[in-house]
Amino acid sequence: MDLIFEIGSEGRKLSLLPKCDVPEVKVPESQSRKTALHLPHVSENELSRHYSKLAKRSHGVNDGFYPLGSCTMKYNPKVNEIAASFKGFTGVHPLQNERTVQGSMEVIKKTEDTLCEIAGMDAFTLQPAAGAHGEFTGLLLIKAYHVDRGDTKRTKIIVPDSAHGTNPASAAMCGFDVVSIPSQDDGCVDLDALRGAVGDDTAGLMLTNPNTVGLFDKNILQITKIVHDAGGLCYYDGANLNAVMGIARPGDMGFDAVHINLHKTFSTPHGGGGPGAGPVGCKEFLKQFLPGHHVAGDENEGFRYEIETKSIGAVKMFHGNFLVIVRALTYMLMLGKEGVPEASSNAVLNANYMRTKLDDLYEMAYDTTCMHEFVMSLEPLKHKTGVSALDVAKGLLDYGIHPPTMYFPLIVEEALMIEPTETEPKEVLDEAIVALRALYKEATDNPEALHSAPHNTVIGRPDEVGAARNTVLRYQWTD
Ligand SMILES: *Cc1c(COP(=O)(O)O)cnc(C)c1O
Repeated sequence: MDLIFEIGSEGRKLSLLPKCDVPEVKVPESQSRKTALHLPHVSENELSRHYSKLAKRSHGVNDGFYPLGSCTMKYNPKVNEIAASFKGFTGVHPLQNERTVQGSMEVIKKTEDTLCEIAGMDAFTLQPAAGAHGEFTGLLLIKAYHVDRGDTKRTKIIVPDSAHGTNPASAAMCGFDVVSIPSQDDGCVDLDALRGAVGDDTAGLMLTNPNTVGLFDKNILQITKIVHDAGGLCYYDGANLNAVMGIARPGDMGFDAVHINLHKTFSTPHGGGGPGAGPVGCKEFLKQFLPGHHVAGDENEGFRYEIETKSIGAVKMFHGNFLVIVRALTYMLMLGKEGVPEASSNAVLNANYMRTKLDDLYEMAYDTTCMHEFVMSLEPLKHKTGVSALDVAKGLLDYGIHPPTMYFPLIVEEALMIEPTETEPKEVLDEAIVALRALYKEATDNPEALHSAPHNTVIGRPDEVGAARNTVLRYQWTD
């Protein structure tokens, strides 16, 4: 397919820009451009067809099943978009006088309060723009806490090997030393290894729960106690809150800080680079370190901005990605107190339904009830037929299904990680089960065909190694 720069012809144009509503000024000669910009020269018709064509070549939640584990590709209700497009939200500026943006401030306050309730925390910041950004912010809170007490020898963050890959990366970014501890055969944290790892140099623990193999750690209360007894703090990676929201709260499990991915659990769009939001919640004693402004007050006395005394400083401008927050609040209010836990229950039910309809054929990495996702190991199939997890994932594309997450988590060989989400009906799950069972049979009967799948998509199998080794990120102009 041609790129936008390769279609059209010199001088062809369209005008979709609104009328200029400020005085036009002439740019001084010294500051004006010497060479022409490379801009596409296309008509409106060409532009429209180009993007239509692109859209047909991609697969989104609106096209079909998207069981990408650890990513919660659920359907995002359109009512969220309607709320986020209200002029009262899109037309305001964060530097406006507080009196003129009381409604937007109420949205922020209500979101913070609702998230506190769901996570079992005392305060929230909405500034972080993504999950990993939230982890970074949460770790800065932990660092500020120890430094504030003059306890400067706490330089280590413990991260179980079933954590999301961003956890050790965020800890390293914050200047901590990362101590990795193994999981047991049942996928839970090895308590003896944890006891052996904690000490007076432990700043804290980062736990992904449910972890990357889709399991809720059954020793969670013991885990947080071991870390607290050693003087460390506990950080909960709540990006997978889809499995537990409204049912179990990180705060009640003993965690001091948590981030939540609004762009996963709270149904705001993601993929294609965001924007997202990774709000961070904390217990009362960490509140004094929170970044940026937060909103205090209520409807009667009015809302006002406040900055914490020992704030770590801003981690993003103003209030983070505000319209993402509007979408998430809309989602929570539409679901209500009953709907929030119901969504989680259905997410867990859907995952277990698929798991039990496949476990006679495919090897499950952990043969036990899962939370919102499950991990299969295609190692035995590969051994028998030569067909890999990648081949099966690509084969699913021929059934109109987006591949699951592949080769993650790293602790499972030939991993395929499936997260159906609660927004899929039983018929869709049944179709996916039929497809996965058919692929297993194909792998046994005709493995060669699967090595080159997909066969019915607009793009076949790209050279992924070549693309990674020889990255071309920018259009190469010939002049
Ligand atoms: C997605 C995810 C993250 C990272 O979130 P981003 O918004 O992509 O930065 C962290 N932890 C877990 C468990 C996740 O699933």
